[in-house]
Amino acid sequence: MKPLLEIRNVSLSYHTVSGETKALSNISFDLMPGEFLAVVGPSGCGKSTLLNIIAGILPLDEGSVRIYGKEVSSHGKMIPIEERNINMVFQDFALWPHMKARDNILYGLKVRRVDKDEQEKRLQEVVSLLHLEGLLNQFPAELSGGQQQRVAIARALITKPAIILLDEPLCNLDVQLRIEMRTEMAQLFRHLKTTVFHVTHDPSEAFAMADRIIVMNQGNIDQNGKPEECYKMPKTAVVAGLLGCLLY
Ligand code: ADP
Repeated sequence: MKPLLEIRNVSLSYHTVSGETKALSNISFDLMPGEFLAVVGPSGCGKSTLLNIIAGILPLDEGSVRIYGKEVSSHGKMIPIEERNINMVFQDFALWPHMKARDNILYGLKVRRVDKDEQEKRLQEVVSLLHLEGLLNQFPAELSGGQQQRVAIARALITKPAIILLDEPLCNLDVQLRIEMRTEMAQLFRHLKTTVFHVTHDPSEAFAMADRIIVMNQGNIDQNGKPEECYKMPKTAVVAGLLGCLLY
């Protein structure tokens, strides 16, 4: 099986008045079709930078990103997110406040001018998958955090993207809901065989949801493996420290 996403020797530095920060140093890994990969690591280790490079929001200095074998980013080249067949779920859900849930969910299909019957068919599919019956005429402000989260996931799934990027999608929910949602989301994506790239600072979330985890530290990958491998055989003190507190 060929990888869906190939990250090769990716490096990026930020240049500010206070100097240069190397955010990513020669990062390489693959994401296979249908796989759920979580990137975990302490604040400042480079997770968001990596996510934004994959999304086509940030350019890279060196290396390349390929999706289905097609180069989408390299030095001096960046194909925009709308041409990458990628969708994102953000930590603040980023729903349009002036649109009802229904219009938020359908937005991606409308801009792609998908025909009305197909829009309705796909809407019914995601409504049933995410238990959104009865909520479609509500505005985001009228929905609970968990319901907004479901609408955001429905909006991401409805365009049938090659990859869904999850940017700390649970951190704005209270603890109980976070635990419920992570199980529900992991089951849903597994059932749909969705390819997922998930960024989180919370190792227990990565453990509960992912098939494979990458542990990052100061712009490098310390370990890339199955959660139980990283837990039982940590390659560095940072991995051991991060995962050691989990009960497994
Ligand atoms: P994480 O998502 O793991 O918290 P980031 O990718 O946001 O890490 O940041 C990686 C490093 O790059 C950090 O040292 C951070 O301070 C720095 N950084 C991130 N964004 C910028 C920016 N826009 N300008 C300058 N430095 C930045």
